[in-house]
Amino acid sequence: MKILISNDDGYQSPGLLALAEALRERWEVEAVAPDRDRSGASNSLTLDVPLRATCLGNGITRVDGTPTDCVHLALTGLLESEPDLVISGINHGPNLGDDILYSGTVAAATEGRFLGLPAIAISIDSHRPAHLDTAARVAVQLVERLRTEPLDSSLILNVNVPDCPYDELKGFLATRLGNRHKAEPVVMSRDPRGRVIYWVGPAGSEQDAGPGTDFHALRSGYVSITPLQVDLTKHSALEGLGRWLSACS
Ligand code: MN
Repeated sequence: MKILISNDDGYQSPGLLALAEALRERWEVEAVAPDRDRSGASNSLTLDVPLRATCLGNGITRVDGTPTDCVHLALTGLLESEPDLVISGINHGPNLGDDILYSGTVAAATEGRFLGLPAIAISIDSHRPAHLDTAARVAVQLVERLRTEPLDSSLILNVNVPDCPYDELKGFLATRLGNRHKAEPVVMSRDPRGRVIYWVGPAGSEQDAGPGTDFHALRSGYVSITPLQVDLTKHSALEGLGRWLSACS
């Protein structure tokens, strides 16, 4: 089996390297990753400038684009043969609830959804992780499980792993996305020439984060696994919207 890995933290990220190392013990692995930290890039494609890919010789290719660019390039011409699976991560920091709309980690996985197996986005619950081996081992386990019993290949599995020794994990939980309060205000500052600049502020605090959610599972020491789909249609609203529109002429 051949696995394509990518991320949004950049090709030098310890999370990517730990994932590559663990998967390589069993499978063929190719990494195609951004040349720098592109966290928050979401599903953006670079269309206004060309992309350059540099093969670094150790199974890693660096691209001067977004996570989506990386996987798109890999699957549409860069790789000699198509992989069976895309795994994105291991992201430093969790991707929970609304985070997934902005996440480049989830976006890279999403771009791989046309392959034979569900794509996986994996994040660890720390921006300075001490237990990347735990998350890497979780990734290996999930791939083994998918090989034994494949899931619907249109799924994207959003995985969040506590930053603790593997033996301290409470288990694996299937979860739904929770959500956060409105984001913190932007931080206004001035550049050295006195002009106003802004830094986007941190994400909001947890709002819908009770039992059953990804927030709750992770906080309780479980590996949280949320099945995502690309179809954002709110199917339950279709009929009501139809009735509402019937008054429009
Ligand atoms: Mn990131």
